[in-house]
Amino acid sequence: MITGTHFKLNRTTAAMLAFALTGASLTTAHGEDGKPGFFKKIFGGGSKAETQPPPPAQVKPAPKAAQKTTATETGRPPRVIITTTGRGSKRTVELNKSATSVPAKKAPPRSKPKSESIQDVTKSVAKDNEGPMKGEFKEDDDDKPSTSKSEAVSVLPSKDGWEIVKIGGRDYVTADSIRNFYNPVYGFTTFRLQGNHFWLGSSKLVLKAQVGSQEMLINNIKFILSFPVQSHNGKVLFSRLDLCKLIDPVLYPSHIQNAEHFDTVVIDAGHGGHDAGARGIYGHEKDFALKMAMSVGAACKARGFKVVYTRSTDMFLTLGGRVSIANQTPKSIFLSFHFNSGGSAASGIETWALTPQSAAATISRGGGFNVNGVTGNKQDSANIALATAVHASVISRFKFVDRGIKRAQWSVLTGCKRPGILFEGGFVTNAKECLLVASDTYRQQVSAAIGDAVVNYRKALESAMAKR
Ligand SMILES: [Zn+2]
Repeated sequence: MITGTHFKLNRTTAAMLAFALTGASLTTAHGEDGKPGFFKKIFGGGSKAETQPPPPAQVKPAPKAAQKTTATETGRPPRVIITTTGRGSKRTVELNKSATSVPAKKAPPRSKPKSESIQDVTKSVAKDNEGPMKGEFKEDDDDKPSTSKSEAVSVLPSKDGWEIVKIGGRDYVTADSIRNFYNPVYGFTTFRLQGNHFWLGSSKLVLKAQVGSQEMLINNIKFILSFPVQSHNGKVLFSRLDLCKLIDPVLYPSHIQNAEHFDTVVIDAGHGGHDAGARGIYGHEKDFALKMAMSVGAACKARGFKVVYTRSTDMFLTLGGRVSIANQTPKSIFLSFHFNSGGSAASGIETWALTPQSAAATISRGGGFNVNGVTGNKQDSANIALATAVHASVISRFKFVDRGIKRAQWSVLTGCKRPGILFEGGFVTNAKECLLVASDTYRQQVSAAIGDAVVNYRKALESAMAKR
């Protein structure tokens, strides 16, 4: 928890560790020599070509399949009371979205056609999907937070350099205080608000946000904040919760208090057995998830980690059973692999970390408002650091639509005592994306990116772990 009291930033270590988190090799992380361009490193990449015959004629994707959530998840929409000063009336604002779900048509999966190289496919997937690309803000209509203009606002006396503004009973910190706090490490040169768009930047880091939106980009990697960015008297405001549970662990991973050393990766292939998961164009989610899990396992072993699989065959396993395997594996982190389903045009990569206490899930079916906190919240900072390392590493290597790093109370995350994430590796209901998911080479390349991310994550938290 940031209080601004008890720690002075150690320039080099912080810079080095933040860079490690986002995949830069340490050699380029000597931020202090002001050498820019290390972030260029994580956005290079691209994958080895895979020779495959051309894709099939136009494939009519299965009707919109319900985006899967774990069977037990029941979203209870969060309520946020915003009082209007002066008029004294209370008004309820719903901060979630309703999901549409259409049962998937039971069409048998097609055999995987031959097609062009992965790079070409990823490029064309990106090209013909309406989704937002890196660096672009696209307001999802139903994600747009509805904020009332007349909230009770009070400016609290600044504490240890932190300017706090209370809006509707919630604490926000000014972007100015964030700049001042991290400036010793990042040497910010840009601090600009233009209309609703806000930039905080240096040669090492560019943070973009938009007043009224929950979308934030750090070096073009998308994060979904728990609360919309606000503004007051021309000051840009981030919720204190987002500062503590997202911005600080990502910008300053060495500060993560309870970072535990790990040497084992618990890998969870979603679904299995009679639970096929999403029905894809070229196969079932459960099979792709198992293949991805095996491939990630190989990549982690190749990087010196021990690996434990929650399942290594097509068997059904309860969500609770998966969590207990993770909790019974000492010195470990938890990675769960799934694939998404939606309309035929829906595509992209998203990574889930547990919803922090006193915040809402990114989507209504994500378990709603986390009122009392759950077991997994003990690892909030490590969860978001791990999600960032994995998501940034994959997004930077493949020209995929970045759907962002999101929050939910998926069962495999709520009960997990280890740092844990759920990775959605693409839409199996999207013809071209399912073609990729069905390809060994693509899975191997994504697995390599994830293996590197696990190494980056450990590097980033090394000094924090050393303190334990
Ligand atoms: Zn799934």
